[in-house]
Amino acid sequence: MGKKAIGIDLGGTAIKGAIIDENGICGGVTRVPTEAEGGGRRIMDNILSLIGKLAESGGGAGEFIGVGIGTPGFVDADGVILNGGANLPGWTGMQVYAPIAERFGLRASAANDVTSVALAELMFGAGRGVQNMVCFALGTGVGGGIVTNGRLYKGGHGMAGEIGHIVVETDGEPCPCGQRGCVERYASATGIVKAAVDFAKSEGCKSDFAKLVHENPGEVTSKLVYEYVAKNDELALKVHERACDMLGRAVGIIINTFSPDRVVLGGGVMMAGSVVLEAVKKYAARHCWPEIFKLCEIVPAQMGEDSGVLGAGALALEEFG
Ligand SMILES: [Zn+2]
Repeated sequence: MGKKAIGIDLGGTAIKGAIIDENGICGGVTRVPTEAEGGGRRIMDNILSLIGKLAESGGGAGEFIGVGIGTPGFVDADGVILNGGANLPGWTGMQVYAPIAERFGLRASAANDVTSVALAELMFGAGRGVQNMVCFALGTGVGGGIVTNGRLYKGGHGMAGEIGHIVVETDGEPCPCGQRGCVERYASATGIVKAAVDFAKSEGCKSDFAKLVHENPGEVTSKLVYEYVAKNDELALKVHERACDMLGRAVGIIINTFSPDRVVLGGGVMMAGSVVLEAVKKYAARHCWPEIFKLCEIVPAQMGEDSGVLGAGALALEEFG
């Protein structure tokens, strides 16, 4: 029988847990409320009781090789949460490995939730069959994960993979991280919406989409931008080309740095499909050494809504399997 791990995906409102083996999720995903308002200790208690439930359903803790946890923020080498996020008060500073070892005798491995998704793609999705890949997750922000030699690269302090904060524009848009011109400011859903509103104001563009943005700037979404891209709308195309140019710069930098076999693009923005993928390929080629570029495939992600819990389980399978 294959090795089994428990995967835990911590979110602001719910904690998802599942038993994960080499084939993916066994027996479905269990959700419990995070109860973030109860503070760090309450969150940890809820994680522990979810692990207990899953262990019991899988024949006892002794049947598992370990627990993987995907969490907002970062996790240092000792299992202490750094930068746990504003919507999880008291989570920063919590030690997550010790209580799991004490209660269940299981080892744990934790990492940033988005970073962990790279491992889910490696084991179960778009990264199958390769050893070196980098994932970009294009959502509200831009996150990512780096896999080298089949392992998630965590960096010296558990903070590697923040590829959304690669600076692609000198003196560009200010970013909450403190830099200017981070790729996240352009290629996230948030960045795409802001570009639509800004361009509609300043360019004197008269397209149908520009009129709509003028009238209802609060209702613009990246999905709407791509509905108008499909109609060849002048403003929407301009926003799309800029987002993909900026993302292409970051992808080019990543390919030059890691020479991955694959770059995987996922997240909500990728719902627009091949139009984004093809444009990013075009721009990345301009920002990358051709000899390295031609050895790397740029492909869409395959993991869906359970990617977080799969990634968490994959953390344990990778480390203890
Ligand atoms: Zn930034």
